[in-house]
Amino acid sequence: MTGFEGSFLGATNKISHAAIMECKICWTPYDPAEGDDYRQIEPGTAFVNLPDDWSCPNCSAPKEQFMVLEDPGAASVLEASRLDEVASRLVADFREVWHAGMRDLPMVNKLLSVEAIGFQIWNERPIGVLMTPWFMNLVLLPAENESWDEIKPGTKDVISFPSGDYEFIHNAREMTGSYMACSLFSPMWDFKTQMQAVDVARAVMVALFDPENVAETDRSADIRAARETDLEQAEIDEVGGKPDTELVPTRRAVITGGLSTGATMES
Ligand code: FE
Repeated sequence: MTGFEGSFLGATNKISHAAIMECKICWTPYDPAEGDDYRQIEPGTAFVNLPDDWSCPNCSAPKEQFMVLEDPGAASVLEASRLDEVASRLVADFREVWHAGMRDLPMVNKLLSVEAIGFQIWNERPIGVLMTPWFMNLVLLPAENESWDEIKPGTKDVISFPSGDYEFIHNAREMTGSYMACSLFSPMWDFKTQMQAVDVARAVMVALFDPENVAETDRSADIRAARETDLEQAEIDEVGGKPDTELVPTRRAVITGGLSTGATMES
């Protein structure tokens, strides 16, 4: 993938630290590997980190007149900005659900807030953990050239990861569009702080890509069984009137199957 046409016009979020730039007036290049002797810029200084008043050493054209000559890091910058966008849409969408009335329901854990954790690209599709005060799910979004709009919400799909196969359910929301979710925890009573829940979400993302976690049995059956156990536990909690403070999140044992139990929580 190459950069973009024309000068970057100060859009420093679109070029990587490896970008080699060129003055569009006199074609003098700026290579971060070399820096700029004339203005005493150290080698290794990215174009985006040059002082605001830096200008072309040859013709004094301002920074904004430079264009991308070559950017080996462009793909990763694009990917990062796409992931940012995906994560903020998800968070905005589910914050709206929260404010639209979810916060008044008894099943929510008011110590937690909506957060998207660990989003990355897997087989061209964004995958990460979405956490809300009422659930923690793996969320998978379509690749850029892919559409799930024709797939009925509720349709199940088994997706393979290095750690095994996971059952996802199709869904759609206005801002997010079509997505697939795999339930990890619901409800969220077992989490006492946002930080604790985020730690578990990060551990889930690591475990998801760890081939040592592949179970010999069918993974999706395991997940379903564990989900049912969790739901039973949730009912027990409900009847008990308050969350059991000693209860260890059971779904975590599934997704981190093969890892030593409990090791991911106390970090
Ligand atoms: Fe110049």
